[in-house]
Amino acid sequence: MRKKFVAGNWKMNLTKSEGIALVKALTAKGPFSIDVAVIPAFVHLDAASQALVGSNIGLGAQDVYFEKNGAFTGEVSLAMLQEFGTKYVLVGHSERRHVLGEKDELLNKKLQAIIAAGLTAILCVGETLQEREANKTFDVVGSQLRLGLAGVDKSKTNQLVIAYEPVWAIGTGKTASPEQAQEVHAFVRQQIAAIFDPAVAAAMRIQYGGSVKASNAKELLGQADIDGALVGGASLKAEDFLGIIAGA
Ligand code: PGA
Repeated sequence: MRKKFVAGNWKMNLTKSEGIALVKALTAKGPFSIDVAVIPAFVHLDAASQALVGSNIGLGAQDVYFEKNGAFTGEVSLAMLQEFGTKYVLVGHSERRHVLGEKDELLNKKLQAIIAAGLTAILCVGETLQEREANKTFDVVGSQLRLGLAGVDKSKTNQLVIAYEPVWAIGTGKTASPEQAQEVHAFVRQQIAAIFDPAVAAAMRIQYGGSVKASNAKELLGQADIDGALVGGASLKAEDFLGIIAGA
């Protein structure tokens, strides 16, 4: 039985005081029976980790660089993230891929570094509207999985979560229907079985992301292969995010 996992990706939103207030409002309603995480901007990780003390909400980072240290201006290392008790790191969020131009090869280096450091990588995959309309969804998602997961040892797959986030559903208010999402989630699980093996696929948690709200969470997360949600906009308000956790 896969434990449901709901994570709130704050993206480039919330000041430090707003973030602390949000974390406090969430911890006040815990502990939770599912896995829950908040993923603030780097500059709020320290404050968020302090506000999370004593709760069972995990801390995640939105990105990381794969090198250990050195002349990489503007980048952040895994050791820096670990100092704040960061447990999860997003890899290949659609905004990293499509706004910042990150390619699969770089994402694979990041993913391997996260796993080597003992953290959990949340690998985000998903097609654009153009790709979906051209019937390329499975090609795109399959390729992102194969390239992103290249070289990962089967024994480390418990440090992996996959997030399926159709790009056309992110921040647009357009959610994939439960059937559309389930279809791709089932495909992702098949691919995980092909890359690793069926036992790894059966244990792998696959989150859905893209305009998840309290009003649609229950139906989406009720699908056979949807094991949680990666939430953007609706993770910025305690009430909305708690509604999604309740739906899960
Ligand atoms: P959204 O973002 O919930 O605002 O659509 C989801 C995501 O990008 O992870």
